[in-house]
Amino acid sequence: MSCLMVERCGAISFETPDQNAICVRMLGDGRLRGQTGVLSERRGSYPFIDLRLLNTTVHSGEIGTKKKVKRLLSFQRYFHASRLLRGIVPQTSLHLLDEDYLGQAAHMLSKVGTWNFDIFLFDRLTNGNSLVTLLCHLFNVYGLIHHFQLDMVKLHRFLGMVQEDYHSQNPYHNAVHAADVTQAMHCYLKEPKLARHLTPLDIFLGLMAAAAHDVDHPGVNQPFLIKTKHHLASLYQNTSVLESHHWRSTVGMLRESGLLSHLPAHMTQDIEQQLGSLILATDISRQNEFLGRFKSHLDNNDINLEDAEHRHFVLQIALKCADICNPCRVWELSRQWSERVCEEFYRQGDLERSCDLEISPLCNQQSDTVPVIQIGFITYIVEPLFEEWMRFTDGSLLTESMMGHLRKNKSQWRQLRHKQQEPAGDCPGQPLSKEPEGGGTGVP
Ligand SMILES: [Zn+2]
Repeated sequence: MSCLMVERCGAISFETPDQNAICVRMLGDGRLRGQTGVLSERRGSYPFIDLRLLNTTVHSGEIGTKKKVKRLLSFQRYFHASRLLRGIVPQTSLHLLDEDYLGQAAHMLSKVGTWNFDIFLFDRLTNGNSLVTLLCHLFNVYGLIHHFQLDMVKLHRFLGMVQEDYHSQNPYHNAVHAADVTQAMHCYLKEPKLARHLTPLDIFLGLMAAAAHDVDHPGVNQPFLIKTKHHLASLYQNTSVLESHHWRSTVGMLRESGLLSHLPAHMTQDIEQQLGSLILATDISRQNEFLGRFKSHLDNNDINLEDAEHRHFVLQIALKCADICNPCRVWELSRQWSERVCEEFYRQGDLERSCDLEISPLCNQQSDTVPVIQIGFITYIVEPLFEEWMRFTDGSLLTESMMGHLRKNKSQWRQLRHKQQEPAGDCPGQPLSKEPEGGGTGVP
């Protein structure tokens, strides 16, 4: 094992004693101590969340050593760097694209504000660079590069890091999901009710938070990290573990890229804090808290968009909507997202089964079917939020369209659930016959 690797192992960096870790790898260092040496070339944590190693790491107390790292590298980039050190040259030709493809991608960008934007197609046309391409375009369109005097090289570097730190083998929580949420956020920022009040800083924060809100997601949920004693769970005291990690990783990348280094310290501090507040709002376990506050504001008709704090709250709600808007998309896109998120759940369930752990709710492929999961998710999570969003936007054209898709998609899933039940029609006790209580928790 090289010195560099030992240096990195288990490293958690702290800027000051009173701050949380800035950037901590998703994986425990135990992985790198595997008997087979450095592991295979697949990106991302899954299936490298190895319970034995994680437990060893936690119990041995090595996390407590907190060796400082000189640079803030996420696992993804550290792993990439270690490959280079070992003389493994990355494959080239990844960026060779037919001009026709680029032309089609450019054409799609001209319609980036439309709700039926096909992010899957866009990702293919950009050869897996949908997040970087989309963000660069939107930053230009909104004039953010000029307004904040951003260095294009640093911007590309930062966005490249963010995109790279999403785990491409996660069926759902990957860079395409981030691009999809960013595209939805763009649509919401253009809502007439909101758009005329937004400052460049609001737009910058909204897009940045959307792009980075799930960065370095391991493809398993918080309860999984807690029950396997993952080092991040103890670091963040079992509260908003993933969201805290997404935020801290983002801050680490912002500083590493130097994107905002030309701005006054108080401004970068404010940006980092606001990004945190936005990303932490996507914690689905805080849904009721946000929904309650939103309802109460709407009942009292007291949202004042001239007030920066009110705008920030609406941005939090907009990001939450963007994050769970899959069922509001046209069926063909919506269905793909549903299948992806369920596939990710099932993988977690398989991992739990293989490790003799209790299988988490919604993660059992045998009993938790896609239609059942989706109907629960729509009923208990999506509909309540979007009904309030509709009130806020005064029933805008976009919201009407989203609600129409939501109704149609729910009806489609009901039909599919019904079809699945038919062969088992003689068995009245089938779990498929009822909607799960509070279904959909943990998505997305
Ligand atoms: Zn998300």
